Amino acid sequence: MSFRADSPTVKNVVPSPNHDARTSRIDILLLHYTGMQTAAEALARLTDKEAKVSSHYFVNEDGRIDQLVPEARRAWHAGEASWKGAVDINARSIGIEVVNPGHQYGYRDFPDVQIDAVIALCRDILARRHIRRERVLAHSDVAPTRKDDPGEKFPWARLAAAGIGLWVEPSPIVGGRTLSANDKGTDVEQLQKQLARFGYGIEVSRFYEDKTRSVVTAFQRHFRPERVDGLADPSTIATLRRLLTR
Ligand SMILES: [Zn+2]
Repeated sequence: MSFRADSPTVKNVVPSPNHDARTSRIDILLLHYTGMQTAAEALARLTDKEAKVSSHYFVNEDGRIDQLVPEARRAWHAGEASWKGAVDINARSIGIEVVNPGHQYGYRDFPDVQIDAVIALCRDILARRHIRRERVLAHSDVAPTRKDDPGEKFPWARLAAAGIGLWVEPSPIVGGRTLSANDKGTDVEQLQKQLARFGYGIEVSRFYEDKTRSVVTAFQRHFRPERVDGLADPSTIATLRRLLTR
């Protein structure tokens, strides 16, 4: 069923049947890439009743924005996810799919005109909804073991310069003590506690297991995109500390 677009930045309403009632107040803006070979294929899936997935917005590479689900409804984009202890991320978020084939089909730079559109859309949403700056997140932030999107090519620094999302200039990559797979002890515990305090769903096990590696990888994709390797090097740790104490 068609509906009136929530944002003046929307070019077309392309209704998806995949939504239901919200059970929480909106307090997260969640960014994705489509991760399919073509935009048409992605849009078809997000509006297919059988697929049971959707998002509120869909931003094409040429900057055209489609709205698929009214903001007042819960769209189905996050899947199993968590942030700051909350697990029903769909209930409390607005989801934006940004067209890009993604890591599986030839990950490429997001065109400037597309990012201009994302920025205009986010600014409009943030002006209407009271979403805190640090709650503009990547899908990979809320589902680090399952998701890589929108990935390290997504220009978070550009968004932050436009007032969207949290960002500090990443600490320079230098040598030094690096935590990695199978390390254990106090330093690992400290890292896990800081990642959990920032919002990531991570257990404080004092052991650098696969889950910790996934969370560090997600953190790097968003906040230290120059090198994404899942190793907690001094630059990664310093960037995280600065975000926590900004
Ligand atoms: Zn996603």
